[in-house]
Amino acid sequence: MVQQMIADNEIDIAASRGLILQACGELDQGRSGAQSTAIAKTFTAEAVWRVVDRSLQICGSLGISGEVLLSRFLREVRPFRIYDGPSETHRWTIARRVVRRHLDARPAGARP
Ligand SMILES: Cc1cc2nc3c(=O)[nH]c(=O)nc-3n(C[C@H](O)[C@H](O)[C@H](O)COP(=O)(O)OP(=O)(O)OC[C@H]3O[C@@H](n4cnc5c(N)ncnc54)[C@H](O)[C@@H]3O)c2cc1C
Repeated sequence: MVQQMIADNEIDIAASRGLILQACGELDQGRSGAQSTAIAKTFTAEAVWRVVDRSLQICGSLGISGEVLLSRFLREVRPFRIYDGPSETHRWTIARRVVRRHLDARPAGARP
């Protein structure tokens, strides 16, 4: 079970890195990056919480004690899901852009 938590941490970190690189690439190309930054922000803000939470779980009571930094990290990463827009509002904008993209892609005759 510990191996699974370590592997899941690596998956979350790798996926976050990939999403951040994609968003940075779009911004470097002068594109808006609105959708990719919202996706990267939402995913990474939640992934970092999962990574710290699993790491704390692996360490047991030592993890939640003040003897290691994990309980401090937990408190420090929790606001990631709130500041720069809470996850709910990012999901709202992500979904809105997806729906808009599909509506715009309809053939002219199929539009109301
Ligand atoms: C540590 C920290 C640092 C910050 N630093 C800065 C900074 O440097 N500059 C700055 O400008 N601001 C900063 N903020 C403010 C931050 O951007 C706001 O806290 C954030 O945008 C959420 O606004 P709010 O706190 O008013 O919560 P509210 O807007 O009242 O939202 C409360 C909760 O309601 C839910 N919610 C809100 N809107 C929706 C919606 N449309 N749909 C569904 N659910 C929704 C979410 O769960 C949200 O967490 C910081 C906040 C924190 C905690």
